[in-house]
Amino acid sequence: MAHFEAVIGLETHIQLNTRSKIFCSCKADSWGEPPNTNICPVCTGLPGVLPTLNRATVEKAVLLAAAMHAESIREVSYFARKNYFYPDLPKGYQISQYDEPLARGGFLDLPMPDGSTRRVTITKLHLEEDAGKTVHQGGRRLIDFNRCGVPLVEMVTGPDLRSADEAAQYLIRLRQLLRWLGVSEADMEKAHLRCDANVSIRPAGADYLNPKTEIKNVNSIDAVRTAIQTEIERQIREVEAGGKIEAWTLEWDEDTGTLRKMRSKETEADYRYFREPDLLPIRLDGEWRERILRELPELPLERRARFVQEYDLPAYDAEILTEERSLSDYFEATSAAHAGAAKTVSNWLMNDVLRIIRERGATAATLRLRPVDLAEIIRLVGSKAITTNTGKELLEKVEASGRKPQDIVASEGLAVVAGEGPLRSLAAEVLADNPDQVAAYKGGKATLIGWFVGQVMRKTGGKADPQRTRLILEELLSG
Ligand SMILES: [Zn+2]
Repeated sequence: MAHFEAVIGLETHIQLNTRSKIFCSCKADSWGEPPNTNICPVCTGLPGVLPTLNRATVEKAVLLAAAMHAESIREVSYFARKNYFYPDLPKGYQISQYDEPLARGGFLDLPMPDGSTRRVTITKLHLEEDAGKTVHQGGRRLIDFNRCGVPLVEMVTGPDLRSADEAAQYLIRLRQLLRWLGVSEADMEKAHLRCDANVSIRPAGADYLNPKTEIKNVNSIDAVRTAIQTEIERQIREVEAGGKIEAWTLEWDEDTGTLRKMRSKETEADYRYFREPDLLPIRLDGEWRERILRELPELPLERRARFVQEYDLPAYDAEILTEERSLSDYFEATSAAHAGAAKTVSNWLMNDVLRIIRERGATAATLRLRPVDLAEIIRLVGSKAITTNTGKELLEKVEASGRKPQDIVASEGLAVVAGEGPLRSLAAEVLADNPDQVAAYKGGKATLIGWFVGQVMRKTGGKADPQRTRLILEELLSG
């Protein structure tokens, strides 16, 4: 296998998360809804209707193009008809973009595990409508038109990926970016993000391209990785046996983990593209474009790098804190409120707050525990007003009640048992109640100190400072 390298390009279809479809006012996302409930004469292609472009789809596509560093976002772009016959395509054509799409060029940088970066170029980015869905059921074909007219961005990469892992990495980073921009839910299991993979092999280091196969119908990142790996191995076996790779379209069968030949691939000429006569061109004038691009946020990788520089965070922390945009905002807001070491904030977020977020199935933006609350809890623990354990419990209590940490500490008496006096008398009580353990300790079983500390902690309901308790106990025991 060492003398072959894989050449992989990915074609992704991204469902934009607009409320309505691209050319009518039907609800766009029908996940889990009964078939044929979000449809109208426009999206089912009845005679005499006209499509009207949903501006929000253009805005989301432009935002995405800018985030992909598109070389050109066209001021004027056109829709085209892609003609083909399929039962779930009621018009007999799909409205897409062809020779003058919304954007061209661009790239997505993938950070690789060894610290290097793989730049994946984007050759094309265009808007189009989705087709319906055909469901096979008991020997019958049922058609669901709900998905007709759902807005998609089709994005095609150059043949820049060299392994199944890199292809998976591309999808992981693309999904992160789509959610970060708020343009798509990007859930592969719900087909918000779909991926076809073009795979070929060549002798390692060669610069020409061999015939490729196209893998369709893969609906998770793991499946993409496995399907591509399977196909690379098949092509190598084929070539080593003296065979030739033909330009097949392959379908991934999730259940059996195998690729099946669907058909010989269509060429573009088969689609008889022409300009869509029912729609005006998209005119992205300067003002509109500027208004859209004002919404372009700092991108995940830029923010990750800034977190390392500005907050002196380890790369590992910065990576986790920038996985999702609202979490990275939460970190910055807490750090600003905390005004101490950012690494302390990062520890609390990664160890405790992330657990709460995951348990709730929520995002940082929807927590009742606000950044100022977290900063206050960190301060209370730092000043030893409460113990670390109490601090962790406080996170849950604030999240559950929405009350301020200080109020909960006051009303529930959670502050550390202060003053040498009370702690000393509790420690003395524990020693008096347990003469056998005291004798054992004095007889050399020094590890019992932990047990004594535990007893004092229990008496205080966990509100004693363990280190101070230990010092007092050791002092009393040596006396
Ligand atoms: Zn409709």
